[in-house]
Amino acid sequence: MKIAGIETFQLSAPLGRPFGWSQGWIGHRSVGLVKVTTDDGVVGWGEGCGGAAAAVVENDFGPMLIGEDPMNRIGLWQKMFAMQYNANVAVGLGGSAISAVDAALWDIAGKALGQPVYQLLGGRARDKVAVYATGLYYTEGEFPTRLLEEARGYVEAGFRGMKTKVGGLPMDEDVKRVAALRETIGPDIKLMVDANQAYNATSAIRIGSRLADLDILWFEEPVNAQDIKGYLQVKSALPMAIAGGENLRTRYEFSHFLSRRAYDIAQPDVINVGGVTEMRNVAMTANTQGIQVNPHVWGSPVMIAASLHVASTIPPCPPSGDPEPYVQEPVMEFDRTPSLIREEIMSEPFDQKDGFLAVPDGPGLGVEIDEKAVRQLSV
Ligand code: CA
Repeated sequence: MKIAGIETFQLSAPLGRPFGWSQGWIGHRSVGLVKVTTDDGVVGWGEGCGGAAAAVVENDFGPMLIGEDPMNRIGLWQKMFAMQYNANVAVGLGGSAISAVDAALWDIAGKALGQPVYQLLGGRARDKVAVYATGLYYTEGEFPTRLLEEARGYVEAGFRGMKTKVGGLPMDEDVKRVAALRETIGPDIKLMVDANQAYNATSAIRIGSRLADLDILWFEEPVNAQDIKGYLQVKSALPMAIAGGENLRTRYEFSHFLSRRAYDIAQPDVINVGGVTEMRNVAMTANTQGIQVNPHVWGSPVMIAASLHVASTIPPCPPSGDPEPYVQEPVMEFDRTPSLIREEIMSEPFDQKDGFLAVPDGPGLGVEIDEKAVRQLSV
């Protein structure tokens, strides 16, 4: 079997109502997909090649990969990495481009062998993965009614945890917002905050100290993604777990953070870190060092499926008679903000039940991608 074709798609869909995160506002959702086809007619889908990364996939990886055996996933990963590393862009869009192709190769391998990706990874440790609701973004005129209604909706839908933003408003207002959320959802639902790198270490410690009484399970990306000393300063000053890593590429970038225990919770992102291959490497390194892995997920069903497969294989951290989801068992982010792309390119969107998603059982990534919808949403 040989790789015969590589095609990228740039999907875009406007949002009915723009929303804000800690660094700005967005008015549309976008996703970059890659379709890899073999001479046997097997099709694999990957995600992560948005914007300039698509050019890397099409112009650099394409000519190199056509004619190669797609089953050689590790060898091809190294070839792609070597090409990007030598071009000195390994940690940016090159990492995303590798991620997209790598997931497509795993999809092909599973389909060619008639096995789900988790089987090829050594078999799963769990058949469903805990998920928390990501939402509670900033919207115009939201507070308190719309925001608190959204939070109540997640509890009613069965979620056991949810995550909101901090860092986009003056500190007093952010604290008031998080306090209102905690009061609304009660003490039994897990609540996390995400600053999207909006603070420096001292301001992160300042707001973290004010949020400490609200039983915040983790404080995500409190400081700049590359500020390892800032992470260590924040981590030693605050009582809640400190999480990060969604923007890091490859095991080499992660190694500095993991070896210095800059995170309590590592959050590799399958479309940034280097695909299924590299997410597995990072997850096992973190697990070996007693660092919990809770994957970052923000994208289409291709990414959700790839993340589920890897998450289903991560051992508990540590093993115990009754490992707790979120803390010792992986919990995955499940984006609940509106996204036409997420809902339309897969015939049966993922269905959360009692705070869990089932791991797909079909061959490869186990998702049927509707190529017609992909083309309709492409720009
Ligand atoms: Ca985040």
